[in-house]
Parts: sequence; C-alpha cells; structure tokens
Amino acid sequence: MRLKNKIAILTGATGGIGEATAHRFISEGAKIAIVDIQKEKIEKLAKEIGQEKALALTADVTDAISIKKCVEKTITHYGQLDIAFLNAGIEGDVAKITEYPLDSFERVMAVNVTGVFLGLKSVIPPMQKNGGGSIIITSSLGGLRGQSKLAPYIASKHAVVGLMKSASVEYAVDKIRVNTINPGPIATRMIESLEEGYAPGSSEIMKKKMERAVPLRRYGRPHEVAELALFLASDEASFITGNCYPVDGGINAI
Ligand code: NAD
Repeated sequence: MRLKNKIAILTGATGGIGEATAHRFISEGAKIAIVDIQKEKIEKLAKEIGQEKALALTADVTDAISIKKCVEKTITHYGQLDIAFLNAGIEGDVAKITEYPLDSFERVMAVNVTGVFLGLKSVIPPMQKNGGGSIIITSSLGGLRGQSKLAPYIASKHAVVGLMKSASVEYAVDKIRVNTINPGPIATRMIESLEEGYAPGSSEIMKKKMERAVPLRRYGRPHEVAELALFLASDEASFITGNCYPVDGGINAI
C-alpha cells in the first residue's frame, strides 16, 4: 500500500495511460479525483472503481476556472491533496511546419502547455498547506528529442519540461516534488492516431515500422507507464525532483 492515506488528482484520466494509472494508484491505497473532458467516460470509470474511492470531474484543462474548481471539489471531498498527475494531452495534426494549421498549433499548446500550467497553479497551494506533495507531468520522449511532422506536439512536450524544472526549484522549499515522465510509443488511442497520421490507410504497416524502431521491438503498455508514475508519486521517490524519466523501450539510447 504505497499510497495509503494519499489523495491524488489525475487529468486525462479516461485515456490509455490515465486510466491505467488511476487503477494502479487505487490498488496501492490512494483515493482519487479523476478529471477528463469526456463526461460519460469519466463517470463510467468512477463507477467501475467505486464512488467512495473515485470522484469523477468533467473539465477542459485549458479552462482556468474549471480546473481550479476541480481542485477545490477534491479538497472539499477528501480534505487534502498529496499527488497530481497532469497527464491530459493531444497529439494535434501530423504535418511539416510549413503545412501545419495555426489553429491546430494553438490547440496543442493550449491543452498540453497551458493545461499543465493551470494544473500547477491550482494544485500547488493545497500542497503547500498540506506540507508537501508530488506532481508528475506526462511529457514525452518528444520532450527530449525532435521528430518530423509533429513540431507543435514536440514543442509542447519540451515546454512542460521547462515548467517542471521551474516548479521543482520554486517549490522545493514547500517539499513539493515535480518530475516528468517521458514515454516512448505506448499502445493507446494516441499512437493509433499518429500511425494513421503518418501513413493514412496503412496504419498497420506504420505500426510495424514504429515497433521495429524500438530497441525492445514493441510499444510500451499503459501499465508500464503507470508503474513509473506510481514510483514518482510514492514516498520511495522522496529525494527525486526536477527530472525527466523516459519509459521508452530504449529509444533514447539510440
Ligand atoms: P489518450 O488519447 O488515450 O488520452 C488522453 C486523455 O486526455 C483522453 O482521456 C482525453 O479525453 C483527455 N483530454 C484531451 N484533451 C483534454 C482537455 N482539453 N481537457 C481534459 N482532458 C483532455 O492518450 P494517452 O496515450 O493516454 O496520452 C496521455 C498522455 O501521454 C498525453 O499527455 C500524451 O501526450 C502522453 N504521451 C503518450 C504517448 C503514447 O505513445 N501514447 C507517448 C508519449 C506521451
């Protein structure tokens, strides 16, 4: 029970990585508030987990007022906040910079960067009151390296590494640890969408090609990312802050 008596808030909680992490946090004794833009899915997940352990909250992470309210509801419901998993994200379009639509660039930045910034602004004050906490931001391997036809996504995932590093320095004094996880390709809706974006109509071929590019020769599974998030959330990571943690089957070593 590595998260016994801990309260966690998770965004993007109905997605592949978010849902796996919600279940993993619960299995280690946490109680959770789960946030997503998809109302029906988030309510279904809370029912599955059990409503005494999971509070369902519908919000768009780009909406400052909604996100502040989600955190307030979490505190009212559970009385404290120890862990935040800022994980909501979108991939945007697959196109070179010269062809990339500006509105799509702006939406990627709003969800992936502004969403994390607003999450930090809302979760830090209750953690300060609480005497500490752990914040885990889902960046990407794309937050450490470049990739063709995905510049806005890659830029957004680099940007949250900057937010993480700044927050970790600013709030170390309050015993708030802040880290990013940096997944390589993980088998979720998002990677399927990217396969289709890179090779319209031939996503299976693209999948094989992308898997071959991983030293471990496969995509990661959502629960393999959840294990890393769990470790960083837990007191076992008590001296770990201000860093990026790839979970990528070895890609970053190439
Ligand atoms: P996913 O699409 O399954 O999950 C994303 C979740 O975020 C969904 O539940 C979606 O409804 C939610 N969301 C999107 N926009 C939102 C908004 N404005 N407000 C609130 N919720 C919103 O994909 P995933 O793979 O589980 O992605 C989770 C995180 O992991 C993302 O930040 C993604 O960029 C990152 N990531 C994924 C991979 C991968 O290969 N799957 C690799 C590296 C990083």
